[in-house]
Amino acid sequence: MNPRLAVDSIVSTGQVAEQGNEWLCAYCLMCDQRCPMGISLADILIKLKNISSAEGKAPSSVVQAVESLFTTGIIALGSTGVDRKRSQLGLPELPKPNPEHIEKLFRATGAMEILEKNLAKEGSAQ
Ligand code: SF4
Repeated sequence: MNPRLAVDSIVSTGQVAEQGNEWLCAYCLMCDQRCPMGISLADILIKLKNISSAEGKAPSSVVQAVESLFTTGIIALGSTGVDRKRSQLGLPELPKPNPEHIEKLFRATGAMEILEKNLAKEGSAQ
């Protein structure tokens, strides 16, 4: 991934791209550590992701993960293998998320509106 392409795209077009390059950023912060000018490209890419999401342009994989977070409280469902390993290591069971708390958080932060916008866009694309 070339992180500058995501920034170049918005500078040249004035718009965030549909499922643009910013979504490839894993926020590892390596570019931040290496930039001799102290520019946080990673933070710029996070802002581009926020703008992209707010405009309903998030990639399907991200929308599905957030929908899973909303409906189940977790992004990746656990497996019996993980549960068994946790038990062998003497770790407690993972806490069960409270759906009411999740909905409250989604509504209070505006995430609900953004999720609905992206889901609607996905629905209209199919
Ligand atoms: S934070 Fe990591 S993944 Fe994201 S643009 Fe910088 S180096 Fe690439």
